[in-house]
Amino acid sequence: MEKLAVTGMVRRARPGPGPDLSGVFLANGQAGKSGLSRSIHDVGWGVFLGVLRAGAASVGRVVVEVDARRISQCCVACGHVARENRPTWAAFVCVRCGHVADADEEAAVNILRAGPARRADARAA
Ligand SMILES: [Zn+2]
Repeated sequence: MEKLAVTGMVRRARPGPGPDLSGVFLANGQAGKSGLSRSIHDVGWGVFLGVLRAGAASVGRVVVEVDARRISQCCVACGHVARENRPTWAAFVCVRCGHVADADEEAAVNILRAGPARRADARAA
């Protein structure tokens, strides 16, 4: 699974002062972020992860958290990593090989591949 920094996800967005510093603050997306924060709190993320790990362990499985940085920018076909591979929020188009996919599916495949690699690294250490 994707390693998420839940603390940062539920923190309030910082207000940004307007360019003229007149005391007027610009929109910072707090309304949308508060909805995400509420959802994360409603789920009880830490509780969920604990149940997931216990359930996995009970059947001999391991939950591996992988670093999510740039994972949605990596092409599963050729391995090229670039911000430009994401022309829109939902689309993935590799600028090197032309591979096209749904961005969420591309990230999911990368996470799936990264998990076993991370476990192998941990065993070797
Ligand atoms: Zn590619």
